[in-house]
This record gives sequence, structure tokens and C-alpha cells, in this order.
Amino acid sequence: MRTAMAGVLAMAMAACGGMALSGGGSGVAGQGSALRDVRPNGKGGGLMSGDARGGNHGGGGGQSGNGIYYHGGPLILGTTNAYYVWYGDWSGNSATSILTDLAKGIGGTPYFNINTTYYDGAGTHVTNAVSYGGDVVDGYPYGKALSDSDIQSIVLDAISSGALPSDANGVYFVLTSKDVKETSGFCKYYCGWHTYTTTASGTPIKYAFIGDPDQCPSGCEAQSSSSPNDNPGADGMASVIAHELEESVTDPELDAWYDRRGYENADKCAWTFGTTYTTSNGSLANMSFDGRDWLIQRNWVNASGGYCALSYSAPLAVQ
Ligand SMILES: [Zn+2]
Repeated sequence: MRTAMAGVLAMAMAACGGMALSGGGSGVAGQGSALRDVRPNGKGGGLMSGDARGGNHGGGGGQSGNGIYYHGGPLILGTTNAYYVWYGDWSGNSATSILTDLAKGIGGTPYFNINTTYYDGAGTHVTNAVSYGGDVVDGYPYGKALSDSDIQSIVLDAISSGALPSDANGVYFVLTSKDVKETSGFCKYYCGWHTYTTTASGTPIKYAFIGDPDQCPSGCEAQSSSSPNDNPGADGMASVIAHELEESVTDPELDAWYDRRGYENADKCAWTFGTTYTTSNGSLANMSFDGRDWLIQRNWVNASGGYCALSYSAPLAVQ
């Protein structure tokens, strides 16, 4: 598995930081060094192999601080609303219930609380709150080989048709069934990605692509024979959805929180899972919420020097 994926790894890592140097955008006092940082392209994190595993994304490279820097852009503040677009054929697939439970349950967990260590230029922190906003079943209006711009069209179609609301606090996930390709590099360079656009009326829209990794279990599924919810594809997607969700919240327009290499918070901990336990079906999990066990990657804590973790509790204030 590792060998099979090694050939594409170098390209995957190049894709992570393959953007032009940031011009800095809006300047941020006290963040001068951050202006040289490589801007993320929303496709960081790569595949589950080689350097992307084992925490090598950690560290951050900063001489001081928490190894991740604020670049002046907006965050999603207050409750984040998650919306799903089920693209393709999901009939008879338990992913629809598993991943809906994920979106309903991840807010308020000690895991999502890690994101509250991120804040905007006014010092307003992310809230540990996610609401499931609803979904739409989409069929194959753009066929079975999708481009990045097709993904954007799928989201904007769902909004313009009224199937989903136009929500600046939303993150819209396009979830494709296992017979659908994403031709810019799903299963080759990435397992998912996030970015943003605006509607015709000017509402900023954050959206993400997540494919069913049953078409490339060695690249995008941490466990491919058994998994906590008896659906390795859906359990693989759960970790990638969490990854793109926390990046969408802390770096929705790719100009807020990332490190010098262009790694956003979840990129820095991609494919690392911390302490695991064995579930009743013999698979591994590392957290439980909403009545289910999950194996979800760690996220970067923007406190105490910075580190990958599965949970965060704010220290008690000292007067
Ligand atoms: Zn990422």
C-alpha cells in the first residue's frame, strides 16, 4: 500500500504548497513574517501515505508562537451550518445516515473545540457549534467525471434552485458516490478540498469536495477492511469531512490561518489519529459522539506552542 502510493506522493506534496507567494492581502500588525507564507490552495493534506502520515506536518517551523499564523482574512464565527449535496448514486449506502450523524454531532465535542483556539483580527474566537442545515440528492447532472468548476456549479445550482439556503455561515459539502471521478486529482493528489465563491447576489459561499474513497482505499481510507460504522468508504469520508470543515471555519477564504508552507490547521495533522481504541467489530476508533465511534484525524491546537490533538479544553483563567 505504501509502496503503491509512493509514486504519487511527491506530486501530492507539491500540490499542497503549489501556490504563488501571497501578496499579504490585508496587513496584520505583528504578523510581518506571515506575509511571506505560501498561500494554501485548499487541497492540502494529501493522501494517506509516506510523509503525510506520522505527524511530519506538525511543528510549523515558527521560531515562536504556535506554528500557524493569521493572515487577516475572515473566519466563520458563531454557529457553522453544514449542508450536504449527495451527488451520484447513494441508494442503499449507509453513508447517508453515518455522515448526517457526523454533521449533527461534531459541534460541541472536545474535538471541534480545538477550533476555538482560532480568532479573527478583532480577537473574536471560533465557536464550538455546528448545525446540520440539510441536504439535497442530486443524481448526475454533470456526469461522472467532474472538474473543480463543476463542483462549484453543483453548489450554486443547489442554492439558486432553492434546494439549499444561501448561507454565509454555511459549508456546503459535495459528496460524490464511488463511481464519480474528480478529474483534478481525487485519489491521486487529494482526498478532499475546500474553497469559496460568491453567489450572484454577493453572498460568500464556502464549499468542499469529498469523494467516496472506496475507489482508492489505500489512498484515502485509514481502514479499508473494517471500520467503526461498518462502511470503510463513509468512515474514510468522515475524517476528510472533519478536515475540510475545520479548515473552512478557520481559513474559509484561504487568507486567514495557515503556516509558512501553506498548511492549514488540519493539514498539519493529516492522517494522524492519536490514541485509538478497538470497537466491537474489531476496527479502530479514537472518539465517540452521536452514538457512534469514529476514527477522525487530529487537528492543530493554536495554543501552548501548537500541537496536534484530539481534544482541547481551555485552561482555567488565572487572575
Ligand atoms: Zn486541508
